[in-house]
Amino acid sequence: MLKGIAASSGIAIAKVYKLEVPTMNITDAKVEDVAAEVEKFKAAMAKTIADIEGIKERATKAGKLSAEEIAVFDAHLMMAQDPMLADEIVNMIQAEGVNAGYATQEVANGMVVMFESMDSDYFRERAADVKDVTFRLKANVLGVVVPDLGAITEDSVVVAHDLTPSDTAQLNEFAKGFATAIGGRTSHSAIMARSLEIPAVVGCTGILEEAKHGDTIVLDAIKGNVILNPTAEEVATYEKAKQEYLEYRAALKVLKDQPSITTDGHQVELVGNIGTPKDADGVLENGGEGVGLYRTEFLYMDSQVLPSEEEQYVAYKAVLEKMGNRPVVVRTLDIGGDKKLPYLPIDEEMNPFLGYRAIRLCLDQKPIFRTQLRALLRASAFGKLRIMFPMIATVKEFRDAKAVYEEERAKLIAEGIAVGDDVQVGMMVEIPAAAVLADQFAKIADFFSIGTNDLIQYSMAADRMSEKVSYLYQPYNPSILRLIKMTIDGAHKEGKWCGMCGEMAGEPNAVAILLGLGLDEFSMSASSILAARKIVRSMNKAEMEELAAKALACDTAEEVLELVKGATK
Ligand code: PEP
Ligand code: MG
Repeated sequence: MLKGIAASSGIAIAKVYKLEVPTMNITDAKVEDVAAEVEKFKAAMAKTIADIEGIKERATKAGKLSAEEIAVFDAHLMMAQDPMLADEIVNMIQAEGVNAGYATQEVANGMVVMFESMDSDYFRERAADVKDVTFRLKANVLGVVVPDLGAITEDSVVVAHDLTPSDTAQLNEFAKGFATAIGGRTSHSAIMARSLEIPAVVGCTGILEEAKHGDTIVLDAIKGNVILNPTAEEVATYEKAKQEYLEYRAALKVLKDQPSITTDGHQVELVGNIGTPKDADGVLENGGEGVGLYRTEFLYMDSQVLPSEEEQYVAYKAVLEKMGNRPVVVRTLDIGGDKKLPYLPIDEEMNPFLGYRAIRLCLDQKPIFRTQLRALLRASAFGKLRIMFPMIATVKEFRDAKAVYEEERAKLIAEGIAVGDDVQVGMMVEIPAAAVLADQFAKIADFFSIGTNDLIQYSMAADRMSEKVSYLYQPYNPSILRLIKMTIDGAHKEGKWCGMCGEMAGEPNAVAILLGLGLDEFSMSASSILAARKIVRSMNKAEMEELAAKALACDTAEEVLELVKGATK
């Protein structure tokens, strides 16, 4: 048995299809006829473009990928058609007289190194796209055949070092799942697997060495385990587990349009966290009742310069229009900490998570903040917008941020530009000081959204990036539950609503306690929504209130978890 990371839930039992990368022997040999070599390269480039177009066409016809995933191929086509790439390779052939394969390899490596050395995860992941396109290009230059996943004709689990976006798009109905040696939950292959809804285990070290083509394999992508050549008994166990999982998923789909209501009639909102406008599709497909957190920093991180008011307006409007009359909570720029912008240098700090970030930066660099607020306000005419400020620590910060909002709103109105008339302006509660003073904040904020990812790290004084202290990430610790309770009670006292958009909101065991504490809105990754709805619909609010009261009186997180498990199984 090998261990990896469960990237896309499910179980598959099939034969191993080992995707072996063809070897390409490239030397720096010089060529006699430079012009002929340039022609050879150009033909290979034309074939590469045709190949990508073919894969895109096949993927579009198969209808399994979303518009955004199909757009990956457009990005690849753009890369392949970019004259800069071709010119650089041609120049190298001409200037150094080297063969086309070598020139392609050198230029490609340079580009990959450039992308991989960037600070942002987004750009580092784009290196995979460069590799994908230039790998195909090199193969065509050398006349090497690239393996064709689309030609699999037997139920298989694809085993590979990694799967590129074009590999994943070629997977047909015989591909029952995949296991890769590298990758994490946010790698391209993991994201693709989730949208294709096939089980996948990534970061499975040793899989390439251990698995042989044709071996029987059990892929347990619920726990992140891979079993090679299982016994008959193991096969039977996993067949049963697979059946149970499929029944569970099918049962969940039934809940897509059902209300999120407890057995005693208490209704809550189950909404989704998104990073891009496209993610809103997943929220709707999974029965989300709105967006509870739009992390706008991705818009800034995906850009080479500060995104313009117009660019931001288009993105915010797209989300609001997609969500129709459902609420959309947009968080203003939360940069700093582990999220950096290459074009916005921030001085090195000893403790960046305690430093110059989020609302602190926005209040210091107001033009950036004003541009975002204007874009948001203009978009507010197209839906049900709620704006929230991240990392609010003091009442003054909230007042100052709200004042900038009011100024921009007044300016737009004076300019005759339409803005929504029911925009709510609230705040994240993710700093303990804000939780403790929630009753005061609730007088001036329209709503709260509890960011447990940060609230826990600041309460426990435990860096959320450090593995060594990760044991202190304790959502069930009574200290955290009490801060959550103070926040919810503070909001309710002033007739305001309180949500949660940290990871805790989507944890099945947390739903019961949060319901009991009176949380109004739960915001989570789209794929968790239906499971949370099932839990809510099976619960009695009054009983959960009793459970929450007991949890608040516990000493440890372990005791709380035991209590919840005992009460909800
Ligand atoms: C949080 O802190 O809980 C949160 C939702 O924000 P982020 O994870 O983006 O810091
Ligand atoms: Mg946060």
